[in-house]
Amino acid sequence: MRPITATIHLDALRNNLAVAKKAAPHSKVMAVVKANGYGHGLLNVAQGLRAADGFAVLGLDEAIRLREAGYTQTLLLLEGVFAVDELAGAACHDISLVVHCPQQIAMLEQAVLPHPVQVFVKLNTGMNRLGFVPHDYVQAVERLVCCPNVRGITLMTHFATADEDKGVAAPLAIFEQSTAALDYPRSLANSAAVLRYPETHRDWVRPGIMLYGATPMAGNSAASYGLESAMSLQSAVIAVQELQVGDSVGYGQRFTAERATRIAVIACGYADGYPRHAPNGTLIAVAGRMTKTVGRVSMDMLFADISDIVDADIGSRVELWGPQVPVDAVAEASGTVGYELLCAVAQRVPMNVVGHG
Ligand SMILES: *Cc1c(COP(=O)(O)O)cnc(C)c1O
Repeated sequence: MRPITATIHLDALRNNLAVAKKAAPHSKVMAVVKANGYGHGLLNVAQGLRAADGFAVLGLDEAIRLREAGYTQTLLLLEGVFAVDELAGAACHDISLVVHCPQQIAMLEQAVLPHPVQVFVKLNTGMNRLGFVPHDYVQAVERLVCCPNVRGITLMTHFATADEDKGVAAPLAIFEQSTAALDYPRSLANSAAVLRYPETHRDWVRPGIMLYGATPMAGNSAASYGLESAMSLQSAVIAVQELQVGDSVGYGQRFTAERATRIAVIACGYADGYPRHAPNGTLIAVAGRMTKTVGRVSMDMLFADISDIVDADIGSRVELWGPQVPVDAVAEASGTVGYELLCAVAQRVPMNVVGHG
Protein backbone atom coordinates (compact mmCIF):
# COMPACT_ATOMS: atom_id res chain seq x y z
CA MET A 1 0.00 0.00 0.00
CA ARG A 2 1.17 3.53 -0.74
CA PRO A 3 2.71 4.75 2.52
CA ILE A 4 0.94 8.11 2.88
CA THR A 5 -1.44 8.64 5.82
CA ALA A 6 -2.99 11.50 7.75
CA THR A 7 -3.03 10.75 11.47
CA ILE A 8 -5.52 12.68 13.58
CA HIS A 9 -4.45 13.24 17.18
CA LEU A 10 -7.44 13.36 19.52
CA ASP A 11 -5.23 14.41 22.44
CA ALA A 12 -4.09 17.45 20.48
CA LEU A 13 -7.69 18.42 19.68
CA ARG A 14 -8.60 18.10 23.34
CA ASN A 15 -5.55 20.15 24.37
CA ASN A 16 -6.37 22.88 21.86
CA LEU A 17 -9.96 23.08 23.06
CA ALA A 18 -8.61 23.49 26.59
CA VAL A 19 -6.40 26.35 25.34
CA ALA A 20 -9.50 28.06 23.90
CA LYS A 21 -11.49 27.52 27.10
CA LYS A 22 -8.63 28.88 29.18
CA ALA A 23 -8.38 31.95 26.96
CA ALA A 24 -12.13 32.55 27.17
CA PRO A 25 -13.08 31.07 30.56
CA HIS A 26 -16.48 32.75 30.80
CA SER A 27 -17.68 31.85 27.32
CA LYS A 28 -19.22 28.77 25.80
CA VAL A 29 -17.17 27.32 22.96
CA MET A 30 -18.77 26.72 19.57
CA ALA A 31 -16.11 24.57 17.89
CA VAL A 32 -16.07 25.38 14.19
CA VAL A 33 -15.89 22.06 12.34
CA LYS A 34 -16.90 23.18 8.85
CA ALA A 35 -15.14 21.79 5.76
CA ASN A 36 -15.07 18.27 7.17
CA GLY A 37 -13.48 19.47 10.39
CA TYR A 38 -10.91 21.60 8.51
CA GLY A 39 -9.94 18.44 6.62
CA HIS A 40 -9.55 16.21 9.70
CA GLY A 41 -12.85 14.33 9.32
CA LEU A 42 -16.06 15.65 10.88
CA LEU A 43 -16.66 12.79 13.28
CA ASN A 44 -12.96 12.52 14.17
CA VAL A 45 -12.83 16.10 15.33
CA ALA A 46 -16.16 15.92 17.10
CA GLN A 47 -14.73 13.04 19.10
CA GLY A 48 -11.62 15.00 20.06
CA LEU A 49 -13.66 18.14 20.76
CA ARG A 50 -16.60 16.50 22.46
CA ALA A 51 -16.19 18.76 25.50
CA ALA A 52 -17.19 21.73 23.29
CA ASP A 53 -20.52 23.42 24.04
CA GLY A 54 -21.49 23.45 20.38
CA PHE A 55 -20.37 22.67 16.85
CA ALA A 56 -20.67 24.93 13.82
CA VAL A 57 -20.89 23.56 10.27
CA LEU A 58 -22.22 24.72 6.91
CA GLY A 59 -24.43 21.94 5.60
CA LEU A 60 -27.59 20.59 7.18
CA ASP A 61 -26.34 17.08 6.32
CA GLU A 62 -23.21 17.63 8.43
CA ALA A 63 -25.26 18.86 11.38
CA ILE A 64 -27.58 15.86 11.10
CA ARG A 65 -24.58 13.51 10.99
CA LEU A 66 -23.38 15.00 14.28
CA ARG A 67 -26.84 14.76 15.84
CA GLU A 68 -27.27 11.18 14.70
CA ALA A 69 -23.82 10.31 16.07
CA GLY A 70 -25.18 11.30 19.47
CA TYR A 71 -23.91 14.85 19.97
CA THR A 72 -26.49 16.73 22.02
CA GLN A 73 -24.75 20.11 22.01
CA THR A 74 -25.87 23.21 20.15
CA LEU A 75 -25.33 22.66 16.41
CA LEU A 76 -25.18 25.77 14.24
CA LEU A 77 -25.44 26.22 10.47
CA LEU A 78 -23.02 29.09 9.83
CA GLU A 79 -24.76 30.25 6.65
CA GLY A 80 -28.25 29.29 7.76
CA VAL A 81 -30.51 27.45 5.37
CA PHE A 82 -30.20 27.83 1.61
CA ALA A 83 -33.85 27.00 0.89
CA VAL A 84 -37.09 26.88 2.85
CA ASP A 85 -37.35 23.08 2.55
CA GLU A 86 -34.31 22.69 4.86
CA LEU A 87 -36.07 24.34 7.78
CA ALA A 88 -38.16 21.35 8.82
CA GLY A 89 -35.06 19.11 8.94
CA ALA A 90 -33.21 21.69 11.00
CA ALA A 91 -36.13 22.00 13.42
CA CYS A 92 -36.59 18.21 13.72
CA HIS A 93 -32.95 17.78 14.76
CA ASP A 94 -32.88 20.93 16.90
CA ILE A 95 -30.25 22.63 14.75
CA SER A 96 -29.67 26.35 15.19
CA LEU A 97 -29.44 28.67 12.20
CA VAL A 98 -27.57 31.78 11.29
CA VAL A 99 -29.95 34.30 9.77
CA HIS A 100 -28.05 36.80 7.63
CA CYS A 101 -30.53 38.23 5.12
CA PRO A 102 -34.22 39.19 4.85
CA GLN A 103 -34.97 36.21 2.60
CA GLN A 104 -34.04 33.87 5.43
CA ILE A 105 -36.41 35.72 7.76
CA ALA A 106 -39.16 35.35 5.18
CA MET A 107 -38.47 31.61 4.99
CA LEU A 108 -38.87 31.32 8.76
CA GLU A 109 -42.10 33.31 8.61
CA GLN A 110 -43.56 31.08 5.90
CA ALA A 111 -42.46 27.65 7.11
CA VAL A 112 -44.64 25.23 9.04
CA LEU A 113 -42.30 23.65 11.60
CA PRO A 114 -42.72 20.92 14.21
CA HIS A 115 -41.19 23.27 16.76
CA PRO A 116 -39.37 26.61 16.74
CA VAL A 117 -35.60 26.99 16.15
CA GLN A 118 -32.80 29.03 17.68
CA VAL A 119 -31.26 31.67 15.46
CA PHE A 120 -27.97 33.57 15.41
CA VAL A 121 -28.68 36.90 13.75
CA LYS A 122 -25.65 38.12 11.87
CA LEU A 123 -24.57 41.74 11.75
CA ASN A 124 -22.29 42.94 8.96
CA THR A 125 -19.67 45.01 10.78
CA GLY A 126 -17.58 45.74 7.70
CA MET A 127 -16.52 42.41 6.30
CA ASN A 128 -19.31 42.73 3.73
CA ARG A 129 -19.70 39.00 3.30
CA LEU A 130 -22.83 37.96 5.21
CA GLY A 131 -25.08 39.87 7.56
CA PHE A 132 -27.54 42.71 7.95
CA VAL A 133 -26.13 46.20 7.71
CA PRO A 134 -26.33 48.16 10.98
CA HIS A 135 -29.24 50.27 9.74
CA ASP A 136 -31.44 47.18 9.24
CA TYR A 137 -30.27 45.09 12.19
CA VAL A 138 -32.62 45.97 15.03
CA GLN A 139 -35.60 45.66 12.74
CA ALA A 140 -34.41 42.23 11.57
CA VAL A 141 -34.06 41.07 15.18
CA GLU A 142 -37.51 42.43 16.05
CA ARG A 143 -39.05 40.60 13.11
CA LEU A 144 -37.47 37.35 14.32
CA VAL A 145 -38.64 37.96 17.88
CA CYS A 146 -42.19 38.10 16.53
CA CYS A 147 -41.81 34.97 14.41
CA PRO A 148 -43.47 31.93 16.03
CA ASN A 149 -40.89 29.61 14.42
CA VAL A 150 -38.08 31.29 16.42
CA ARG A 151 -37.49 30.45 20.06
CA GLY A 152 -34.11 31.97 20.91
CA ILE A 153 -31.89 34.69 19.56
CA THR A 154 -28.14 35.24 19.69
CA LEU A 155 -26.51 38.35 18.26
CA MET A 156 -23.52 37.61 16.07
CA THR A 157 -20.83 39.12 13.88
CA HIS A 158 -17.58 37.97 12.27
CA PHE A 159 -14.30 39.93 12.08
CA ALA A 160 -12.36 40.59 8.89
CA THR A 161 -9.07 41.61 10.54
CA ALA A 162 -8.88 40.02 14.00
CA ASP A 163 -5.62 38.41 12.84
CA GLU A 164 -4.08 41.62 11.51
CA ASP A 165 -2.68 44.89 12.84
CA LYS A 166 -6.03 46.59 12.29
CA GLY A 167 -7.62 44.36 14.92
CA VAL A 168 -11.27 44.57 15.92
CA ALA A 169 -11.79 48.09 17.31
CA ALA A 170 -13.86 49.46 14.43
CA PRO A 171 -16.17 46.47 13.92
CA LEU A 172 -16.53 46.01 17.68
CA ALA A 173 -17.67 49.63 18.03
CA ILE A 174 -20.22 49.07 15.25
CA PHE A 175 -21.43 45.91 16.97
CA GLU A 176 -21.83 47.66 20.35
CA GLN A 177 -23.71 50.55 18.81
CA SER A 178 -26.00 48.36 16.70
CA THR A 179 -26.87 45.98 19.55
CA ALA A 180 -27.05 48.47 22.47
CA ALA A 181 -30.83 48.22 22.70
CA LEU A 182 -30.92 44.42 22.44
CA ASP A 183 -30.66 42.10 25.42
CA TYR A 184 -29.64 38.74 23.96
CA PRO A 185 -26.54 36.54 24.10
CA ARG A 186 -23.67 37.48 21.81
CA SER A 187 -21.08 35.69 19.67
CA LEU A 188 -18.19 37.45 17.95
CA ALA A 189 -14.77 35.82 18.32
CA ASN A 190 -12.97 33.58 15.82
CA SER A 191 -9.62 32.02 16.84
CA ALA A 192 -7.63 35.22 16.40
CA ALA A 193 -10.06 37.15 18.60
CA VAL A 194 -10.14 34.33 21.17
CA LEU A 195 -6.36 34.66 21.49
CA ARG A 196 -5.98 38.42 21.17
CA TYR A 197 -9.16 40.23 22.22
CA PRO A 198 -10.83 39.15 25.48
CA GLU A 199 -13.30 42.03 25.12
CA THR A 200 -14.87 40.11 22.20
CA HIS A 201 -15.45 36.83 24.05
CA ARG A 202 -19.01 37.32 25.43
CA ASP A 203 -21.43 34.36 25.57
CA TRP A 204 -20.10 32.18 22.74
CA VAL A 205 -16.66 32.10 21.12
CA ARG A 206 -16.26 30.42 17.71
CA PRO A 207 -12.70 29.12 17.36
CA GLY A 208 -11.79 27.09 14.29
CA ILE A 209 -8.19 26.94 13.15
CA MET A 210 -6.64 27.05 16.63
CA LEU A 211 -8.44 23.82 17.55
CA TYR A 212 -6.49 22.05 14.83
CA GLY A 213 -3.17 23.36 16.11
CA ALA A 214 -2.46 25.85 13.35
CA THR A 215 -2.06 29.56 13.88
CA PRO A 216 -4.68 32.15 12.99
CA MET A 217 -1.91 34.79 12.99
CA ALA A 218 0.79 34.67 10.35
CA GLY A 219 4.07 35.24 12.10
CA ASN A 220 3.00 33.85 15.52
CA SER A 221 3.57 30.14 15.82
CA ALA A 222 0.76 27.88 17.01
CA ALA A 223 3.20 26.41 19.54
CA SER A 224 3.65 29.83 21.13
CA TYR A 225 -0.03 29.63 22.19
CA GLY A 226 0.36 26.10 23.53
CA LEU A 227 -1.44 24.59 20.53
CA GLU A 228 -0.57 21.12 19.25
CA SER A 229 -0.80 19.83 15.71
CA ALA A 230 -3.96 17.75 15.32
CA MET A 231 -2.90 16.23 11.99
CA SER A 232 0.35 14.57 10.95
CA LEU A 233 0.63 14.10 7.22
CA GLN A 234 3.15 11.30 6.91
CA SER A 235 4.63 9.23 4.14
CA ALA A 236 7.87 7.44 3.32
CA VAL A 237 10.87 7.50 1.05
CA ILE A 238 10.22 5.27 -1.99
CA ALA A 239 13.47 5.88 -3.94
CA VAL A 240 16.86 7.53 -3.44
CA GLN A 241 18.81 9.32 -6.16
CA GLU A 242 22.50 10.26 -6.00
CA LEU A 243 23.03 13.53 -7.88
CA GLN A 244 26.40 14.71 -9.19
CA VAL A 245 27.21 18.41 -9.56
CA GLY A 246 25.05 19.74 -12.38
CA ASP A 247 22.35 17.03 -12.18
CA SER A 248 18.73 18.16 -11.74
CA VAL A 249 15.58 16.61 -10.28
CA GLY A 250 11.98 16.65 -11.37
CA TYR A 251 9.84 18.59 -13.82
CA GLY A 252 11.35 21.76 -15.17
CA GLN A 253 14.70 20.91 -13.56
CA ARG A 254 13.92 23.48 -10.88
CA PHE A 255 16.71 22.18 -8.63
CA THR A 256 20.24 21.56 -9.86
CA ALA A 257 22.89 20.11 -7.54
CA GLU A 258 25.84 22.36 -6.74
CA ARG A 259 27.53 19.51 -4.88
CA ALA A 260 27.01 15.74 -4.70
CA THR A 261 23.49 15.51 -3.29
CA ARG A 262 21.42 12.60 -1.98
CA ILE A 263 17.77 12.98 -2.88
CA ALA A 264 14.81 11.18 -1.32
CA VAL A 265 11.79 10.61 -3.54
CA ILE A 266 8.72 10.74 -1.27
CA ALA A 267 5.24 9.34 -1.87
CA CYS A 268 3.28 12.59 -1.57
CA GLY A 269 2.30 15.01 -4.29
CA TYR A 270 -0.19 17.71 -5.09
CA ALA A 271 -2.88 15.08 -5.72
CA ASP A 272 -2.59 14.31 -2.01
CA GLY A 273 -3.06 17.97 -1.12
CA TYR A 274 0.57 19.01 -0.75
CA PRO A 275 0.93 22.50 -2.28
CA ARG A 276 2.41 22.46 -5.77
CA HIS A 277 3.69 25.98 -5.10
CA ALA A 278 6.04 24.82 -2.33
CA PRO A 279 9.44 26.23 -3.29
CA ASN A 280 12.87 24.63 -2.98
CA GLY A 281 13.73 24.80 0.71
CA THR A 282 10.30 24.07 2.22
CA LEU A 283 10.68 22.34 5.58
CA ILE A 284 10.14 18.58 5.75
CA ALA A 285 11.29 15.87 8.17
CA VAL A 286 12.89 12.61 6.97
CA ALA A 287 13.74 9.85 9.44
CA GLY A 288 12.97 12.28 12.24
CA ARG A 289 15.41 14.94 11.01
CA MET A 290 14.53 18.32 9.57
CA THR A 291 15.53 19.02 6.00
CA LYS A 292 14.26 20.80 2.88
CA THR A 293 12.33 19.94 -0.23
CA VAL A 294 13.95 20.42 -3.62
CA GLY A 295 12.51 20.47 -7.12
CA ARG A 296 8.95 20.87 -8.29
CA VAL A 297 6.20 18.94 -6.50
CA SER A 298 4.72 16.30 -8.84
CA MET A 299 1.21 14.89 -8.75
CA ASP A 300 2.23 11.89 -6.64
CA MET A 301 5.78 12.54 -5.45
CA LEU A 302 8.13 15.18 -4.17
CA PHE A 303 11.83 15.39 -3.35
CA ALA A 304 13.89 16.17 -0.28
CA ASP A 305 17.61 16.67 0.20
CA ILE A 306 18.87 13.91 2.52
CA SER A 307 22.60 14.51 1.99
CA ASP A 308 23.02 15.14 5.73
CA ILE A 309 20.69 12.38 6.94
CA VAL A 310 22.99 9.41 6.54
CA ASP A 311 20.60 6.80 7.92
CA ALA A 312 17.71 7.86 5.62
CA ASP A 313 16.88 5.33 2.93
CA ILE A 314 13.98 3.69 1.13
CA GLY A 315 11.28 3.12 3.74
CA SER A 316 12.33 6.01 6.00
CA ARG A 317 9.38 7.85 7.56
CA VAL A 318 8.61 11.35 6.32
CA GLU A 319 6.57 14.06 8.02
CA LEU A 320 5.14 16.53 5.50
CA TRP A 321 3.52 18.44 8.37
CA GLY A 322 2.58 17.67 11.95
CA PRO A 323 4.21 18.01 15.37
CA GLN A 324 7.70 18.41 13.91
CA VAL A 325 7.02 20.43 10.75
CA PRO A 326 4.41 23.13 11.41
CA VAL A 327 1.74 23.18 8.70
CA ASP A 328 2.05 26.96 8.95
CA ALA A 329 5.69 26.78 7.81
CA VAL A 330 4.75 24.79 4.71
CA ALA A 331 1.85 27.16 4.07
CA GLU A 332 3.89 30.31 4.47
CA ALA A 333 6.62 29.03 2.14
CA SER A 334 3.91 28.23 -0.41
CA GLY A 335 2.14 31.59 -0.21
CA THR A 336 -0.94 30.35 1.61
CA VAL A 337 -2.29 29.62 5.10
CA GLY A 338 -2.52 26.47 7.18
CA TYR A 339 -6.32 26.54 6.77
CA GLU A 340 -6.03 25.87 3.05
CA LEU A 341 -3.53 23.02 3.34
CA LEU A 342 -5.47 21.22 6.07
CA CYS A 343 -8.77 21.50 4.18
CA ALA A 344 -7.18 20.31 0.95
CA VAL A 345 -5.86 16.93 2.11
CA ALA A 346 -7.18 14.64 -0.62
CA GLN A 347 -9.79 11.95 -0.26
CA ARG A 348 -7.25 9.35 -1.38
CA VAL A 349 -5.11 9.91 1.74
CA PRO A 350 -6.15 7.30 4.32
CA MET A 351 -6.89 8.80 7.70
CA ASN A 352 -6.33 7.16 11.04
CA VAL A 353 -7.18 8.39 14.48
CA VAL A 354 -5.03 8.06 17.60
CA GLY A 355 -5.34 9.14 21.22
CA HIS A 356 -8.22 9.80 23.53
CA GLY A 357 -10.86 12.46 22.91
C1 LIG B 1 -14.78 29.81 9.89
C2 LIG B 1 -15.47 30.68 10.85
C3 LIG B 1 -15.02 30.81 12.18
C4 LIG B 1 -13.71 30.22 12.65
O1 LIG B 1 -12.63 30.98 12.16
P1 LIG B 1 -11.11 30.61 12.54
O2 LIG B 1 -10.31 31.71 11.96
O3 LIG B 1 -10.84 29.30 11.89
O4 LIG B 1 -11.06 30.53 14.02
C5 LIG B 1 -15.78 31.53 13.07
N1 LIG B 1 -16.94 32.14 12.66
C6 LIG B 1 -17.38 32.05 11.40
C7 LIG B 1 -18.64 32.75 11.02
C8 LIG B 1 -16.68 31.33 10.46
O5 LIG B 1 -17.12 31.26 9.20
